[in-house]
Amino acid sequence: MQQSICLVGIGKIAVDQHVPAIAGSADWTLAATVSRAGSVDGVPAYVDFDAMLAERTDIGVISLCLPPVPRFAYASRAIAAGRHVMLEKPPGATLAEVHALQVMADAAGVSLFATWHSRMAKGVAAAKAFLADRVVISAHIDWKEDVRRWHPNQEWVFEPGGMGVFDPGINALSILTEVLPAPVHLRAAVLRFPENRQTPIAANLVFSGGVTATFDWLKQGDQMWEMTLHAGADEVRLIGGGNRCLVNGVEVEGTDLEEYPALYDRMARLVQMGQSDVDLSPMVHVADAFTLGRREIVAPFAF
Ligand code: NAP
Repeated sequence: MQQSICLVGIGKIAVDQHVPAIAGSADWTLAATVSRAGSVDGVPAYVDFDAMLAERTDIGVISLCLPPVPRFAYASRAIAAGRHVMLEKPPGATLAEVHALQVMADAAGVSLFATWHSRMAKGVAAAKAFLADRVVISAHIDWKEDVRRWHPNQEWVFEPGGMGVFDPGINALSILTEVLPAPVHLRAAVLRFPENRQTPIAANLVFSGGVTATFDWLKQGDQMWEMTLHAGADEVRLIGGGNRCLVNGVEVEGTDLEEYPALYDRMARLVQMGQSDVDLSPMVHVADAFTLGRREIVAPFAF
């Protein structure tokens, strides 16, 4: 039987990914939206979240597609109203607020899913399976994209809590933390802040275990979301944001579902099983980078 879901924050990612994923799923019906400006054709649209929660008792699940800073206020109200909640990545503005949501969801007996869409990329499961019983001796991540293309005029990414280049970079870290057979921790970082902005536009990270990462938000031309891991003589490459996996140069067959359909499939199962899925390890690395990173000031940025 289909479950009714409400999407909150009808912006770029809701329109690009969430709406089509829900429309294509046998598990879900998009029963309402909440947004100050956005809506979806044919779907009842609310501006006031509390009014929607009070009126639409038929809706059991809320999917929050807002930027991270406003997300806690919405998630906590949804949980207090007895709804299951799905969080876009990164799951919050701070680690502590997501821990608080976990406690609230457990007490309310609802499912909380802190999604990491890149973990659902088609090649990630194969890379994880191959590395599971191996020792990774080195790895390098290149996550380089054009902020103007993926976040057109989204000023929030450069405001406190917007995370800057870590907004895409955390996707790479979500894959890294998924596929590594043993955890690593940050040892050093350089964060490059435009002189007129609050968040970095580029970063270099050095982790334990021979893992390094380069994040760049000014990449022109071909976009680059890649990582290469070495385990003894074996090489695992994830390219296309984790959607293709090559082991020793040979492509391995990936999973069937695209990233967002796979997230909604997992949410349906979590609700069914009465479980939550909240892994904050990618965000711990980001918090560590802001704690430990050396700051360099670079040229001002304008969209
Ligand atoms: P966005 O388009 O700038 O924002 C999404 C919507 O959130 C906006 O349309 C806005 O809707 C609402 N919103 C923004 N600020 C708000 C506030 N202070 N209070 C209440 N509502 C607010 O951003 P996005 O690109 O969709 O990103 C949203 C989340 O998805 C982020 O966490 C991002 O990391 C993640 N994500 C983005 C992408 C991407 O390619 N852009 C990819 C994967 C994941 P209204 O003004 O209509 O209320």
